Amino acid sequence: MGEREHSGKIALVTGASRGIGRAIALRLAREGAKILCASRSLASSASTVEAIRAGGGEAEPLAVDVSQSVAVQLACEEILGRQGRVDILVNCAGINRDNLLLRMRDEEWDAVVATDLSSCFHWTRHLCRPMVRNRWGRIITIASVIGLVGNGGQANYAAAKAGAIAFTKSVARELASRNITANAIAPGFIETDMTAALPEAIREKIRSQIPMDTLGSPEDVAHAVAFLASEQARYITGHVLNVDGGMVMA
Ligand code: NAP
Repeated sequence: MGEREHSGKIALVTGASRGIGRAIALRLAREGAKILCASRSLASSASTVEAIRAGGGEAEPLAVDVSQSVAVQLACEEILGRQGRVDILVNCAGINRDNLLLRMRDEEWDAVVATDLSSCFHWTRHLCRPMVRNRWGRIITIASVIGLVGNGGQANYAAAKAGAIAFTKSVARELASRNITANAIAPGFIETDMTAALPEAIREKIRSQIPMDTLGSPEDVAHAVAFLASEQARYITGHVLNVDGGMVMA
């Protein structure tokens, strides 16, 4: 992959303010893409935008609640009106609201499904139209190994991530003939705010299930995204790439 693999491309990264999304935004910017950094508020994306600009890259912040269909639609209309297209879409924004099934509230289910699954549908359906017209596009969705194997206390998250994987495979089939690839990445446990909240005993237990014996970094995921977005990955679509230190081997 050349240093400026993504020159001239416009990439939209949701969840770009922190963790994995931030690492993806920085990585694609370093390789020349202009990055639209979406998160809940302009304030939260500001530091990623500043870091990209400080490195000589191009970036803009975008405040969108990805769980809201209308908010995503308006954002897409505004972006397409101004930029004409998005070449690389990275669906990364996500939350978890863990609870045992017997205690899980409607709000916990609905919030996770809206943020981690429905958002992928909303962004993809609006932004794929110009990709189809241009006969080029990359759609990359950050799922999770939990969407492959399930997890106690995470029925909502597991269902949303499994749905995101099945959505990706269907999109891949629909858009393959237009030179648009759709792939999912299934991270294992990555050091971010999402996992920082776990008690030490749980982290130890998780580590013991990872053959590589360590949590991953956001950059580990960003490397995989950069590859799937590149020209070298032009013949890979409908794939789920685990980035998990060997945790789930299938
Ligand atoms: P994180 O550090 O908690 O960051 C979450 C990001 O999503 C933030 O940028 C946040 O924006 C954004 N976001 C959340 N809800 C949003 C909403 N309604 N509208 C707009 N933006 C929203 O999470 P992370 O660990 O980097 O995870 C990123 C993705 O990887 C998620 O989809 C997660 O499920 C997945 N993943 C993570 C791990 C892991 O171990 N960390 C493992 C597997 C998969 P604000 O800053 O504005 O809140």
